[in-house]
Amino acid sequence: MERLKNFINGEFATPAEGKYLDKIAPSTGEKIYELPDSTEVDVVQAVKAAQGAFEGWADTPIAERSRIMSRVADLIDLKRDELALAEAIDVGKPLELAKSLDMNRAALNFRFFAAALLNKTEMATDMDGDAINYTLRQPIGVAGLIAPWNLPLYLMSWKIAPAIACGNTVVCKPSEWTSKTCFLLAPLLNEAGVPKGVVNFIFGKGDPVGSYLVKHPGVPLISFTGGTATGEKIQTMAAPYVKKVSMELGGKNATLVMKDVDIAKVVPQIARASFLNSGEICLCGSKILVQEDIYEEFCKQLAAHVDQLVVGDPVDSKTFMGPLVSKQHYDKVLSLLDLAKKEGGKVIAGGARPDLGGAMKNGYFLRPTLIKDLTNCSEIHQTEIFGPVVTINSFKYPHEAVKWANNSPYGLSASVWTKSLTTAHKVAADLKVGTVWINTWLKRDLRVPFGGQKASGIGREGGAHSFDFYTETKTVCVQLGGV
Ligand code: NDP
Repeated sequence: MERLKNFINGEFATPAEGKYLDKIAPSTGEKIYELPDSTEVDVVQAVKAAQGAFEGWADTPIAERSRIMSRVADLIDLKRDELALAEAIDVGKPLELAKSLDMNRAALNFRFFAAALLNKTEMATDMDGDAINYTLRQPIGVAGLIAPWNLPLYLMSWKIAPAIACGNTVVCKPSEWTSKTCFLLAPLLNEAGVPKGVVNFIFGKGDPVGSYLVKHPGVPLISFTGGTATGEKIQTMAAPYVKKVSMELGGKNATLVMKDVDIAKVVPQIARASFLNSGEICLCGSKILVQEDIYEEFCKQLAAHVDQLVVGDPVDSKTFMGPLVSKQHYDKVLSLLDLAKKEGGKVIAGGARPDLGGAMKNGYFLRPTLIKDLTNCSEIHQTEIFGPVVTINSFKYPHEAVKWANNSPYGLSASVWTKSLTTAHKVAADLKVGTVWINTWLKRDLRVPFGGQKASGIGREGGAHSFDFYTETKTVCVQLGGV
């Protein structure tokens, strides 16, 4: 049985206490490899390696840092098939999606920040010729990077790339459910010429490994993507050290459909926004709101479309949706589905396991599920399900839909579907979320700010915002002719 190792100071290392965790494949329920069950000692070693590498890396000319990062991007492209297969098996996501979404984006994260680094400029502020202020943006030190299991390499590279572009070194903690692609990235970092200790991976459980990383006094900034409850704990742990934190947290995203849309045209797009990656994307639309004039017809067409989506083996090219990531998560989603039924929701598509036999018979599969007519005050409308269970309701006027959408502790994203520019812009302005898509979904440009309002997070990353987060800003004021 394969055993993963931690990656510290450019070398693979067995966990200090020699303990391992089992990795179970979500599509079969079978054990496929073991990963380190790391402890504080491993975290301390990784932070020490990152601290040792910091000065040299921070002093490396930006052209050289950029060249090395571009090589990482090229190597990810070169190994795309192998990385995508590992991601598909680990997460249970379709292989084609792992290639087109996850691996393309992982390479792009390195390529984008390598280029952005070369194009970064700062402004100076003249005080009537008497003095000039200029700004230095300096690397901070060792960054602790913690990512979830739904888009493992996509999200970890979204953190590593800007952090090291700015001259920081990093200790990364992937989710215990999905460690494989970070493990496979490690030798590519060496091959690309990333100096030893600049990027380190520690595998194991969120608590203790992630907690030790957050509490380590030698780690002054933490970038976290994951659930809101974990984000709250991390902020509490980081507070006594006054660490810089970025929180990309959960979401309960509304999809607002106005009566003027071409139903047949938007139905496949809204099904994709609801169920891509088994609904395990923080940005998936899990609360569909449709204007009452077209509600019944829309429900009919959407349910018919969802019923023909193929659920099955992630490596089969026909598969649209694989299993959920783990037994634990599967049970949680099933219990929320039960709650929705108890609260009076009417299942109009899915709602049960698909009929899969053979190797897949013990996998964590659920058909994409649509639930109609739950009331606004139902618990399901306030809870992030993070799976293929989506509600659909009607509204009379656009401002009512906005009220429904905003009636949530979360504020990550929303999508609005309409031919009316006036409605689209008005609704976009009124939604309390970090990102609004109009007549599209998941179109991402790395130059634009990304993050959530309310319980969906703190801070923005992307383009210049990432450089803001991963650097310390210093103002220097120069008196002209002062001495
Ligand atoms: P979790 O919050 O459970 O875990 C996220 C990461 O934190 C994992 O690596 C986890 O490790 C680690 N972790 C868990 N406990 C601690 C702790 N006490 N201290 C430090 N680290 C810890 O989230 P999930 O992995 O279940 O991911 C799903 C969540 O992520 C959803 O809420 C989703 O909306 C959100 N998300 C948000 C995104 C955004 O951009 N806003 C993007 C993608 C997902 P381990 O898994 O080993 O326990």
